[in-house]
Amino acid sequence: MICVSIGRGRHRHMIHEYRHLVEHQAELVELRLDYIIGPVSLKRLLAEKKSKVIVTCRRPEDGGKWTGTEEARATLLRHAIAMGVDYVDLEEDLATQIPRFGSTQRIISHHDFNKTPDNLDQIHDRLSALDADIVKITTMANSPRDNVRMLRMVRDAKIPTVGMCMGEIGTSSRILVGKFGAPFTYATFHHERALAPGQLSYHDMRHIYRYDQIDRNTEVYGVIADPIGHSLSPIIHNACFDHFGMNRVYVPLRIPREELDQFMDDARELGIRGISVTIPHKEAVIRKLHKVHGAVRSINAANTVVFNGEGTVGYNTDYHAAMQCVDLAMSTDPSDQPLSGRKALLLGAGGVAKSIAFGLTRRGADVVITNRTAERAEQLASDFECHTIPWTRRHAVKPDLIINATPIGMHPNVDETPFDKHYLQPGMVVFDTVYNPESTLLLKDAFQKNCKVVTGVEMFVRQAAHQFQLFTNQEAPMELMRETLKRTTGAVKIQRKNNDESESPDHAD
Ligand code: NAP
Repeated sequence: MICVSIGRGRHRHMIHEYRHLVEHQAELVELRLDYIIGPVSLKRLLAEKKSKVIVTCRRPEDGGKWTGTEEARATLLRHAIAMGVDYVDLEEDLATQIPRFGSTQRIISHHDFNKTPDNLDQIHDRLSALDADIVKITTMANSPRDNVRMLRMVRDAKIPTVGMCMGEIGTSSRILVGKFGAPFTYATFHHERALAPGQLSYHDMRHIYRYDQIDRNTEVYGVIADPIGHSLSPIIHNACFDHFGMNRVYVPLRIPREELDQFMDDARELGIRGISVTIPHKEAVIRKLHKVHGAVRSINAANTVVFNGEGTVGYNTDYHAAMQCVDLAMSTDPSDQPLSGRKALLLGAGGVAKSIAFGLTRRGADVVITNRTAERAEQLASDFECHTIPWTRRHAVKPDLIINATPIGMHPNVDETPFDKHYLQPGMVVFDTVYNPESTLLLKDAFQKNCKVVTGVEMFVRQAAHQFQLFTNQEAPMELMRETLKRTTGAVKIQRKNNDESESPDHAD
Protein backbone atom coordinates (compact mmCIF):
# COMPACT_ATOMS: atom_id res chain seq x y z
CA MET A 1 0.00 0.00 0.00
CA ILE A 2 1.17 3.54 -0.75
CA CYS A 3 0.56 6.30 1.76
CA VAL A 4 0.39 9.68 0.06
CA SER A 5 1.42 12.62 2.24
CA ILE A 6 -0.29 15.94 1.71
CA GLY A 7 0.65 19.20 3.35
CA ARG A 8 -0.92 22.50 2.29
CA GLY A 9 -1.35 25.83 4.05
CA ARG A 10 -5.11 26.06 3.47
CA HIS A 11 -7.85 23.60 4.32
CA ARG A 12 -9.47 23.90 0.92
CA HIS A 13 -6.24 23.02 -0.89
CA MET A 14 -5.71 20.04 1.39
CA ILE A 15 -9.29 18.88 0.78
CA HIS A 16 -8.91 19.40 -2.96
CA GLU A 17 -5.76 17.23 -3.06
CA TYR A 18 -7.42 14.61 -0.86
CA ARG A 19 -10.39 14.38 -3.25
CA HIS A 20 -8.04 14.07 -6.19
CA LEU A 21 -6.14 11.24 -4.51
CA VAL A 22 -9.29 9.33 -3.65
CA GLU A 23 -10.41 9.67 -7.26
CA HIS A 24 -7.04 8.16 -8.20
CA GLN A 25 -7.52 5.14 -5.94
CA ALA A 26 -5.25 6.24 -3.07
CA GLU A 27 -5.94 3.84 -0.21
CA LEU A 28 -4.04 5.66 2.52
CA VAL A 29 -3.45 9.42 2.88
CA GLU A 30 -1.36 11.21 5.49
CA LEU A 31 -2.72 14.62 6.45
CA ARG A 32 0.14 16.82 7.64
CA LEU A 33 -1.64 19.18 10.00
CA ASP A 34 1.57 21.10 10.68
CA TYR A 35 1.39 22.62 7.17
CA ILE A 36 -1.94 24.32 7.83
CA ILE A 37 -1.59 28.01 8.58
CA GLY A 38 -3.79 29.08 11.49
CA PRO A 39 -6.32 27.00 13.48
CA VAL A 40 -6.81 23.43 12.23
CA SER A 41 -10.35 22.12 11.67
CA LEU A 42 -10.19 18.32 11.72
CA LYS A 43 -13.94 18.25 11.21
CA ARG A 44 -13.52 20.03 7.87
CA LEU A 45 -10.55 17.96 6.80
CA LEU A 46 -12.20 14.64 7.60
CA ALA A 47 -15.71 15.52 6.36
CA GLU A 48 -15.24 13.68 3.06
CA LYS A 49 -13.07 10.86 4.36
CA LYS A 50 -13.20 7.98 1.88
CA SER A 51 -9.81 6.31 2.43
CA LYS A 52 -7.73 5.35 5.42
CA VAL A 53 -6.08 8.40 6.95
CA ILE A 54 -2.97 9.03 9.02
CA VAL A 55 -3.01 12.24 11.04
CA THR A 56 0.44 13.71 11.63
CA CYS A 57 1.56 17.00 13.12
CA ARG A 58 5.33 17.47 13.07
CA ARG A 59 7.61 19.87 14.91
CA PRO A 60 10.43 21.57 13.00
CA GLU A 61 13.05 19.34 14.67
CA ASP A 62 11.31 16.30 13.16
CA GLY A 63 11.05 17.92 9.73
CA GLY A 64 7.67 19.62 10.21
CA LYS A 65 6.26 23.13 10.21
CA TRP A 66 4.30 23.22 13.46
CA THR A 67 4.68 26.58 15.20
CA GLY A 68 2.20 26.12 18.07
CA THR A 69 2.85 24.79 21.56
CA GLU A 70 3.48 21.15 22.40
CA GLU A 71 0.29 21.16 24.44
CA ALA A 72 -1.76 22.35 21.46
CA ARG A 73 -0.13 19.70 19.25
CA ALA A 74 -0.98 16.92 21.73
CA THR A 75 -4.57 18.21 21.98
CA LEU A 76 -4.93 18.13 18.20
CA LEU A 77 -3.69 14.56 18.00
CA ARG A 78 -5.93 13.46 20.90
CA HIS A 79 -8.83 15.05 19.07
CA ALA A 80 -7.98 13.08 15.92
CA ILE A 81 -7.96 9.87 17.98
CA ALA A 82 -11.30 10.77 19.54
CA MET A 83 -12.69 11.24 16.02
CA GLY A 84 -11.59 7.70 15.21
CA VAL A 85 -9.00 8.35 12.48
CA ASP A 86 -7.33 5.19 11.26
CA TYR A 87 -3.81 6.11 12.40
CA VAL A 88 -2.02 8.82 14.36
CA ASP A 89 1.70 9.38 14.02
CA LEU A 90 3.35 9.99 17.40
CA GLU A 91 7.00 10.75 18.01
CA GLU A 92 8.71 8.94 20.86
CA ASP A 93 8.16 11.62 23.53
CA LEU A 94 4.54 12.24 22.59
CA ALA A 95 3.78 8.52 22.50
CA THR A 96 4.42 8.32 26.24
CA GLN A 97 1.87 11.10 26.87
CA ILE A 98 -0.93 10.00 24.55
CA PRO A 99 -2.46 6.62 25.43
CA ARG A 100 -4.17 4.18 23.08
CA PHE A 101 -7.86 4.88 22.61
CA GLY A 102 -10.59 3.37 20.44
CA SER A 103 -9.70 1.82 17.10
CA THR A 104 -7.01 4.32 16.10
CA GLN A 105 -3.69 2.61 15.41
CA ARG A 106 -0.45 4.09 16.69
CA ILE A 107 2.48 4.78 14.37
CA ILE A 108 5.47 5.53 16.59
CA SER A 109 8.01 7.45 14.57
CA HIS A 110 11.63 8.57 14.64
CA HIS A 111 13.37 10.93 12.21
CA ASP A 112 17.01 11.79 11.70
CA PHE A 113 17.70 14.37 9.00
CA ASN A 114 21.48 14.12 9.28
CA LYS A 115 22.41 10.48 9.30
CA THR A 116 21.31 6.87 9.62
CA PRO A 117 22.41 6.09 13.18
CA ASP A 118 24.49 3.01 13.98
CA ASN A 119 21.99 1.90 16.62
CA LEU A 120 18.93 1.44 14.39
CA ASP A 121 17.93 -1.76 16.18
CA GLN A 122 18.03 -0.07 19.58
CA ILE A 123 15.87 2.79 18.30
CA HIS A 124 13.46 0.24 16.88
CA ASP A 125 13.29 -1.58 20.23
CA ARG A 126 12.57 1.69 22.04
CA LEU A 127 9.76 2.65 19.66
CA SER A 128 8.28 -0.85 19.70
CA ALA A 129 7.98 -0.66 23.49
CA LEU A 130 5.68 2.39 23.23
CA ASP A 131 2.53 0.39 22.41
CA ALA A 132 3.24 0.68 18.70
CA ASP A 133 1.06 -0.87 16.02
CA ILE A 134 3.56 0.30 13.43
CA VAL A 135 7.11 1.60 13.85
CA LYS A 136 8.27 4.24 11.39
CA ILE A 137 11.95 5.17 11.14
CA THR A 138 13.13 7.67 8.56
CA THR A 139 16.79 8.67 8.41
CA MET A 140 19.15 10.40 6.02
CA ALA A 141 21.20 8.08 3.81
CA ASN A 142 24.77 9.29 3.50
CA SER A 143 25.89 6.03 1.95
CA PRO A 144 24.15 3.22 0.02
CA ARG A 145 25.06 0.98 2.97
CA ASP A 146 22.51 2.92 5.06
CA ASN A 147 19.75 1.57 2.81
CA VAL A 148 20.96 -1.97 3.39
CA ARG A 149 21.02 -1.52 7.17
CA MET A 150 17.59 0.09 7.12
CA LEU A 151 15.98 -2.60 4.97
CA ARG A 152 17.61 -5.36 7.02
CA MET A 153 16.01 -3.82 10.13
CA VAL A 154 12.59 -3.76 8.42
CA ARG A 155 13.00 -7.39 7.35
CA ASP A 156 13.93 -8.58 10.86
CA ALA A 157 11.36 -6.49 12.78
CA LYS A 158 8.82 -8.31 14.95
CA ILE A 159 6.16 -5.64 14.48
CA PRO A 160 5.20 -4.00 11.18
CA THR A 161 7.85 -1.43 10.35
CA VAL A 162 8.20 1.27 7.74
CA GLY A 163 11.92 2.06 7.51
CA MET A 164 13.15 4.35 4.78
CA CYS A 165 16.17 6.46 4.02
CA MET A 166 15.91 10.05 2.87
CA GLY A 167 17.92 11.87 0.23
CA GLU A 168 18.70 10.82 -3.32
CA ILE A 169 20.82 7.91 -2.09
CA GLY A 170 17.83 6.71 -0.07
CA THR A 171 15.21 6.82 -2.85
CA SER A 172 15.58 3.13 -3.69
CA SER A 173 14.80 2.18 -0.07
CA ARG A 174 11.38 3.83 -0.41
CA ILE A 175 10.59 1.41 -3.25
CA LEU A 176 12.33 -1.69 -1.91
CA VAL A 177 10.83 -1.43 1.57
CA GLY A 178 7.80 -3.32 0.20
CA LYS A 179 9.97 -6.32 -0.64
CA PHE A 180 11.33 -6.31 2.91
CA GLY A 181 7.86 -6.52 4.48
CA ALA A 182 6.80 -2.94 5.29
CA PRO A 183 3.02 -2.43 5.60
CA PHE A 184 3.24 0.61 3.31
CA THR A 185 5.59 3.21 1.90
CA TYR A 186 5.25 6.98 1.67
CA ALA A 187 4.94 9.05 -1.49
CA THR A 188 4.20 12.66 -2.21
CA PHE A 189 1.14 14.14 -3.96
CA HIS A 190 3.24 15.64 -6.74
CA HIS A 191 6.95 15.26 -7.52
CA GLU A 192 7.48 19.01 -7.12
CA ARG A 193 6.03 18.97 -3.60
CA ALA A 194 8.09 16.38 -1.75
CA LEU A 195 7.64 16.66 2.02
CA ALA A 196 10.91 14.82 2.63
CA PRO A 197 14.10 14.68 0.54
CA GLY A 198 14.17 11.88 -2.03
CA GLN A 199 10.41 11.19 -1.88
CA LEU A 200 8.82 9.90 -5.07
CA SER A 201 5.42 11.01 -6.30
CA TYR A 202 2.33 8.84 -5.91
CA HIS A 203 2.12 8.63 -9.69
CA ASP A 204 5.68 7.35 -10.11
CA MET A 205 5.47 4.98 -7.15
CA ARG A 206 2.25 3.51 -8.52
CA HIS A 207 2.71 3.59 -12.27
CA ILE A 208 6.47 3.41 -12.84
CA TYR A 209 7.55 1.27 -9.90
CA ARG A 210 4.22 -0.61 -9.45
CA TYR A 211 4.82 -0.54 -5.71
CA ASP A 212 1.60 -2.38 -4.90
CA GLN A 213 2.84 -5.45 -6.77
CA ILE A 214 6.18 -5.62 -4.95
CA ASP A 215 6.48 -8.53 -2.56
CA ARG A 216 9.17 -10.69 -1.01
CA ASN A 217 9.72 -12.53 -4.30
CA THR A 218 10.19 -9.43 -6.45
CA GLU A 219 13.50 -9.49 -8.32
CA VAL A 220 15.39 -6.20 -8.18
CA TYR A 221 17.22 -4.47 -11.03
CA GLY A 222 18.57 -0.96 -11.21
CA VAL A 223 20.88 1.62 -12.65
CA ILE A 224 23.98 2.68 -10.72
CA ALA A 225 25.30 6.19 -11.34
CA ASP A 226 26.47 9.36 -9.63
CA PRO A 227 24.78 11.70 -10.20
CA ILE A 228 21.69 9.66 -10.96
CA GLY A 229 19.83 12.70 -12.36
CA HIS A 230 16.64 11.84 -14.18
CA SER A 231 17.76 8.52 -15.57
CA LEU A 232 15.32 7.21 -18.15
CA SER A 233 16.29 3.57 -17.62
CA PRO A 234 13.82 2.94 -14.76
CA ILE A 235 10.94 4.15 -16.90
CA ILE A 236 11.87 1.93 -19.83
CA HIS A 237 12.73 -1.26 -17.97
CA ASN A 238 9.76 -1.07 -15.60
CA ALA A 239 7.41 -0.56 -18.57
CA CYS A 240 8.80 -3.78 -20.08
CA PHE A 241 8.49 -5.74 -16.83
CA ASP A 242 4.90 -4.52 -16.60
CA HIS A 243 4.24 -5.47 -20.23
CA PHE A 244 5.20 -9.09 -19.52
CA GLY A 245 3.62 -9.15 -16.03
CA MET A 246 7.02 -9.92 -14.50
CA ASN A 247 7.50 -9.72 -10.74
CA ARG A 248 10.53 -7.46 -11.13
CA VAL A 249 11.27 -3.85 -10.34
CA TYR A 250 14.02 -1.55 -11.64
CA VAL A 251 15.19 1.23 -9.31
CA PRO A 252 17.53 4.25 -9.49
CA LEU A 253 20.62 3.69 -7.33
CA ARG A 254 22.86 6.67 -6.65
CA ILE A 255 26.21 5.14 -5.78
CA PRO A 256 29.11 7.53 -5.07
CA ARG A 257 32.40 6.50 -6.71
CA GLU A 258 34.03 5.47 -3.43
CA GLU A 259 31.06 3.29 -2.45
CA LEU A 260 31.03 1.08 -5.53
CA ASP A 261 32.87 -1.91 -4.06
CA GLN A 262 30.72 -2.02 -0.93
CA PHE A 263 27.57 -1.70 -3.03
CA MET A 264 28.60 -4.61 -5.26
CA ASP A 265 29.18 -6.71 -2.12
CA ASP A 266 25.76 -5.74 -0.71
CA ALA A 267 23.76 -6.01 -3.94
CA ARG A 268 22.55 -9.58 -3.47
CA GLU A 269 21.17 -8.78 -0.02
CA LEU A 270 18.97 -6.15 -1.67
CA GLY A 271 17.67 -8.83 -4.04
CA ILE A 272 19.53 -7.36 -7.02
CA ARG A 273 19.75 -9.61 -10.10
CA GLY A 274 21.03 -7.14 -12.66
CA ILE A 275 22.24 -3.57 -13.02
CA SER A 276 22.81 -1.01 -15.72
CA VAL A 277 26.09 0.79 -15.09
CA THR A 278 26.77 4.35 -16.05
CA ILE A 279 29.05 7.31 -15.23
CA PRO A 280 31.35 7.08 -13.23
CA HIS A 281 31.34 3.30 -12.73
CA LYS A 282 31.70 1.73 -16.18
CA GLU A 283 35.44 1.06 -15.86
CA ALA A 284 35.71 0.60 -12.10
CA VAL A 285 32.95 -2.02 -11.94
CA ILE A 286 35.09 -4.48 -13.91
CA ARG A 287 37.28 -5.22 -10.88
CA LYS A 288 34.18 -6.56 -9.08
CA LEU A 289 33.15 -8.94 -11.88
CA HIS A 290 33.79 -12.67 -11.99
CA LYS A 291 33.47 -12.83 -15.75
CA VAL A 292 33.27 -10.39 -18.64
CA HIS A 293 31.83 -10.88 -22.06
CA GLY A 294 33.16 -10.08 -25.50
CA ALA A 295 34.10 -6.47 -25.93
CA VAL A 296 34.26 -5.49 -22.23
CA ARG A 297 37.93 -6.35 -21.87
CA SER A 298 38.99 -4.52 -25.05
CA ILE A 299 36.92 -1.43 -24.32
CA ASN A 300 37.65 -1.62 -20.60
CA ALA A 301 34.06 -0.62 -19.80
CA ALA A 302 30.94 -2.55 -18.80
CA ASN A 303 27.48 -1.00 -18.79
CA THR A 304 25.56 -4.11 -17.73
CA VAL A 305 26.08 -6.57 -14.89
CA VAL A 306 24.08 -9.74 -14.38
CA PHE A 307 24.13 -11.41 -10.96
CA ASN A 308 23.64 -15.12 -11.53
CA GLY A 309 24.23 -18.26 -9.52
CA GLU A 310 27.93 -18.34 -10.31
CA GLY A 311 28.79 -14.70 -9.73
CA THR A 312 28.70 -11.44 -11.61
CA VAL A 313 29.03 -11.18 -15.36
CA GLY A 314 29.71 -7.91 -17.22
CA TYR A 315 28.61 -6.90 -20.72
CA ASN A 316 28.85 -3.82 -22.90
CA THR A 317 25.53 -3.27 -24.62
CA ASP A 318 26.47 0.32 -25.68
CA TYR A 319 28.98 -1.18 -28.05
CA HIS A 320 26.50 -3.68 -29.51
CA ALA A 321 23.80 -1.04 -29.88
CA ALA A 322 26.05 1.54 -31.53
CA MET A 323 27.39 -1.02 -34.01
CA GLN A 324 23.90 -2.26 -34.85
CA CYS A 325 22.96 1.34 -35.62
CA VAL A 326 26.03 1.75 -37.86
CA ASP A 327 25.40 -1.55 -39.66
CA LEU A 328 21.78 -0.63 -40.31
CA ALA A 329 22.65 2.84 -41.57
CA MET A 330 25.51 1.73 -43.79
CA SER A 331 23.87 -1.55 -44.85
CA THR A 332 26.95 -3.41 -43.65
CA ASP A 333 27.39 -6.93 -42.45
CA PRO A 334 29.42 -7.25 -39.25
CA SER A 335 30.87 -10.63 -40.25
CA ASP A 336 33.59 -9.24 -42.55
CA GLN A 337 35.41 -5.89 -42.55
CA PRO A 338 32.49 -3.96 -44.04
CA LEU A 339 33.84 -0.47 -43.42
CA SER A 340 37.21 -1.05 -44.97
CA GLY A 341 38.10 2.01 -47.06
CA ARG A 342 35.43 4.13 -45.36
CA LYS A 343 36.34 7.14 -43.24
CA ALA A 344 34.61 7.85 -39.93
CA LEU A 345 34.90 11.07 -37.94
CA LEU A 346 34.32 10.48 -34.24
CA LEU A 347 33.48 13.60 -32.20
CA GLY A 348 34.43 13.03 -28.55
CA ALA A 349 36.79 10.71 -26.70
CA GLY A 350 34.78 9.74 -23.59
CA GLY A 351 33.15 6.45 -22.60
CA VAL A 352 30.75 6.13 -25.51
CA ALA A 353 33.40 7.21 -28.01
CA LYS A 354 35.62 4.40 -26.72
CA SER A 355 33.03 1.71 -27.50
CA ILE A 356 32.43 3.22 -30.92
CA ALA A 357 36.14 3.58 -31.77
CA PHE A 358 36.65 -0.09 -30.92
CA GLY A 359 33.66 -1.19 -33.01
CA LEU A 360 34.53 0.92 -36.04
CA THR A 361 38.17 -0.16 -36.19
CA ARG A 362 37.08 -3.79 -35.87
CA ARG A 363 34.90 -3.18 -38.92
CA GLY A 364 37.92 -1.90 -40.80
CA ALA A 365 37.02 1.81 -40.86
CA ASP A 366 39.63 4.54 -41.03
CA VAL A 367 38.68 6.38 -37.81
CA VAL A 368 39.61 10.00 -37.13
CA ILE A 369 39.02 11.11 -33.56
CA THR A 370 38.60 14.73 -32.57
CA ASN A 371 38.03 15.96 -29.06
CA ARG A 372 37.95 19.20 -27.10
CA THR A 373 40.79 17.87 -24.95
CA ALA A 374 43.40 16.73 -27.46
CA GLU A 375 45.29 14.38 -25.09
CA ARG A 376 42.19 12.27 -24.57
CA ALA A 377 41.73 11.92 -28.33
CA GLU A 378 45.37 10.89 -28.69
CA GLN A 379 45.08 8.30 -25.94
CA LEU A 380 42.00 6.76 -27.49
CA ALA A 381 43.57 6.84 -30.95
CA SER A 382 46.64 4.99 -29.70
CA ASP A 383 44.45 2.35 -27.96
CA PHE A 384 42.64 1.46 -31.18
CA GLU A 385 45.00 2.55 -33.95
CA CYS A 386 42.99 5.57 -35.07
CA HIS A 387 44.06 9.04 -36.25
CA THR A 388 43.38 12.34 -34.57
CA ILE A 389 42.69 15.86 -35.72
CA PRO A 390 42.46 18.97 -33.51
CA TRP A 391 38.93 19.89 -32.48
CA THR A 392 39.23 23.25 -34.26
CA ARG A 393 40.13 21.51 -37.54
CA ARG A 394 37.42 18.85 -37.48
CA HIS A 395 35.62 20.29 -40.51
CA ALA A 396 38.66 19.59 -42.66
CA VAL A 397 37.86 15.86 -42.66
CA LYS A 398 35.58 14.51 -45.43
CA PRO A 399 34.10 11.42 -43.81
CA ASP A 400 31.52 8.87 -44.93
CA LEU A 401 30.26 8.63 -41.36
CA ILE A 402 30.13 11.25 -38.57
CA ILE A 403 29.34 10.20 -35.04
CA ASN A 404 28.69 12.66 -32.25
CA ALA A 405 29.77 11.10 -28.95
CA THR A 406 29.70 14.38 -26.99
CA PRO A 407 26.72 15.88 -25.15
CA ILE A 408 26.65 18.89 -27.52
CA GLY A 409 23.04 19.50 -28.59
CA MET A 410 21.58 17.76 -25.56
CA HIS A 411 18.71 19.36 -23.67
CA PRO A 412 18.70 22.21 -22.65
CA ASN A 413 21.41 23.29 -25.16
CA VAL A 414 19.31 22.27 -28.13
CA ASP A 415 20.58 25.14 -30.32
CA GLU A 416 24.13 23.79 -30.33
CA THR A 417 25.69 21.41 -32.82
CA PRO A 418 29.14 19.79 -32.78
CA PHE A 419 29.52 19.97 -36.59
CA ASP A 420 28.75 22.90 -38.87
CA LYS A 421 25.92 22.28 -41.35
CA HIS A 422 27.95 23.81 -44.14
CA TYR A 423 30.36 20.84 -44.15
CA LEU A 424 27.70 18.12 -44.24
CA GLN A 425 27.46 16.41 -47.64
CA PRO A 426 24.57 14.45 -49.19
CA GLY A 427 24.92 10.71 -48.65
CA MET A 428 26.98 11.02 -45.48
CA VAL A 429 25.76 8.98 -42.52
CA VAL A 430 25.29 11.19 -39.45
CA PHE A 431 24.80 9.40 -36.14
CA ASP A 432 24.11 11.47 -33.03
CA THR A 433 24.31 9.52 -29.77
CA VAL A 434 22.42 12.30 -27.94
CA TYR A 435 18.88 11.04 -27.30
CA ASN A 436 17.27 13.97 -25.53
CA PRO A 437 16.01 15.48 -27.75
CA GLU A 438 15.87 12.87 -30.46
CA SER A 439 15.81 15.51 -33.15
CA THR A 440 19.05 17.35 -32.36
CA LEU A 441 20.20 20.33 -34.38
CA LEU A 442 22.95 18.15 -35.90
CA LEU A 443 20.35 15.66 -37.15
CA LYS A 444 17.99 18.38 -38.39
CA ASP A 445 20.88 19.87 -40.39
CA ALA A 446 21.91 16.43 -41.67
CA PHE A 447 18.37 15.70 -42.75
CA GLN A 448 18.18 18.97 -44.68
CA LYS A 449 21.47 18.16 -46.40
CA ASN A 450 20.14 14.75 -47.51
CA CYS A 451 22.39 12.77 -45.19
CA LYS A 452 21.28 9.49 -43.70
CA VAL A 453 20.59 9.96 -40.01
CA VAL A 454 20.75 7.67 -37.00
CA THR A 455 19.30 8.88 -33.73
CA GLY A 456 20.52 8.47 -30.17
CA VAL A 457 17.05 7.16 -29.31
CA GLU A 458 17.70 4.19 -31.58
CA MET A 459 20.99 3.48 -29.83
CA PHE A 460 19.49 3.97 -26.38
CA VAL A 461 16.63 1.61 -27.12
CA ARG A 462 18.95 -1.01 -28.56
CA GLN A 463 21.34 -0.93 -25.59
CA ALA A 464 18.39 -1.17 -23.20
CA ALA A 465 16.88 -4.00 -25.27
CA HIS A 466 20.15 -5.98 -25.00
CA GLN A 467 20.14 -5.38 -21.27
CA PHE A 468 16.55 -6.54 -20.96
CA GLN A 469 17.42 -9.74 -22.79
CA LEU A 470 20.42 -10.34 -20.51
CA PHE A 471 18.29 -9.66 -17.42
CA THR A 472 15.31 -11.81 -18.43
CA ASN A 473 16.39 -14.19 -21.23
CA GLN A 474 13.44 -12.78 -23.14
CA GLU A 475 13.36 -10.62 -26.24
CA ALA A 476 12.66 -6.96 -25.42
CA PRO A 477 9.52 -5.22 -26.69
CA MET A 478 11.51 -2.62 -28.64
CA GLU A 479 8.53 -0.70 -29.94
CA LEU A 480 7.23 -0.26 -26.39
CA MET A 481 10.71 0.94 -25.36
CA ARG A 482 10.80 3.46 -28.21
CA GLU A 483 7.35 4.78 -27.44
CA THR A 484 8.07 5.03 -23.71
CA LEU A 485 11.34 6.84 -24.29
CA LYS A 486 9.86 9.27 -26.79
CA ARG A 487 6.85 9.98 -24.62
CA THR A 488 9.14 10.66 -21.69
CA THR A 489 11.59 12.92 -23.42
CA GLY A 490 8.87 14.57 -25.46
CA ALA A 491 11.12 13.91 -28.39
CA VAL A 492 9.96 15.08 -31.75
CA LYS A 493 10.21 12.45 -34.37
CA ILE A 494 12.49 13.40 -37.18
CA GLN A 495 10.74 13.40 -40.50
CA ARG A 496 13.04 11.53 -42.69
CA LYS A 497 13.37 11.95 -46.37
CA ASN A 498 15.25 8.78 -46.99
CA ASN A 499 16.06 7.12 -50.20
CA ASP A 500 14.18 4.09 -48.94
CA GLU A 501 10.76 5.51 -48.04
CA SER A 502 9.46 2.09 -47.08
CA GLU A 503 11.80 1.66 -44.13
CA SER A 504 10.36 2.36 -40.71
CA PRO A 505 11.23 5.94 -39.74
CA ASP A 506 12.15 4.69 -36.28
CA HIS A 507 14.95 2.56 -37.55
CA ALA A 508 18.43 3.57 -38.44
CA ASP A 509 18.60 4.09 -42.14
P1 NAP B 1 31.94 11.26 -21.16
O1 NAP B 1 32.73 10.02 -20.92
O2 NAP B 1 31.80 12.26 -20.09
O3 NAP B 1 32.57 11.99 -22.46
C1 NAP B 1 32.06 13.21 -22.92
C2 NAP B 1 32.81 13.63 -24.18
O4 NAP B 1 32.20 14.80 -24.70
C3 NAP B 1 34.26 13.98 -23.92
O5 NAP B 1 35.00 13.64 -25.05
C4 NAP B 1 34.19 15.50 -23.74
O6 NAP B 1 35.38 16.16 -24.10
C5 NAP B 1 33.14 15.86 -24.75
N1 NAP B 1 32.48 17.11 -24.41
C6 NAP B 1 31.69 17.34 -23.34
N2 NAP B 1 31.22 18.61 -23.39
C7 NAP B 1 31.75 19.19 -24.50
C8 NAP B 1 31.64 20.48 -25.08
N3 NAP B 1 30.88 21.41 -24.53
N4 NAP B 1 32.31 20.71 -26.22
C9 NAP B 1 33.07 19.77 -26.80
N5 NAP B 1 33.20 18.51 -26.28
C10 NAP B 1 32.55 18.23 -25.15
O7 NAP B 1 30.46 10.89 -21.61
P2 NAP B 1 29.96 9.61 -22.44
O8 NAP B 1 29.51 8.57 -21.48
O9 NAP B 1 30.93 9.25 -23.47
O10 NAP B 1 28.63 10.21 -23.11
C11 NAP B 1 28.71 11.17 -24.14
C12 NAP B 1 27.33 11.41 -24.71
O11 NAP B 1 26.88 10.23 -25.34
C13 NAP B 1 26.27 11.70 -23.64
O12 NAP B 1 26.19 13.06 -23.37
C14 NAP B 1 25.01 11.17 -24.26
O13 NAP B 1 24.33 12.20 -24.93
C15 NAP B 1 25.49 10.15 -25.25
N6 NAP B 1 25.10 8.78 -24.82
C16 NAP B 1 24.16 8.17 -25.56
C17 NAP B 1 23.78 6.87 -25.26
C18 NAP B 1 22.72 6.21 -26.08
O14 NAP B 1 22.39 5.05 -25.80
N7 NAP B 1 22.16 6.88 -27.08
C19 NAP B 1 24.37 6.19 -24.20
C20 NAP B 1 25.34 6.86 -23.45
C21 NAP B 1 25.71 8.15 -23.78
P3 NAP B 1 36.56 16.38 -23.03
O15 NAP B 1 37.39 15.15 -23.07
O16 NAP B 1 37.26 17.60 -23.54
O17 NAP B 1 35.92 16.61 -21.69
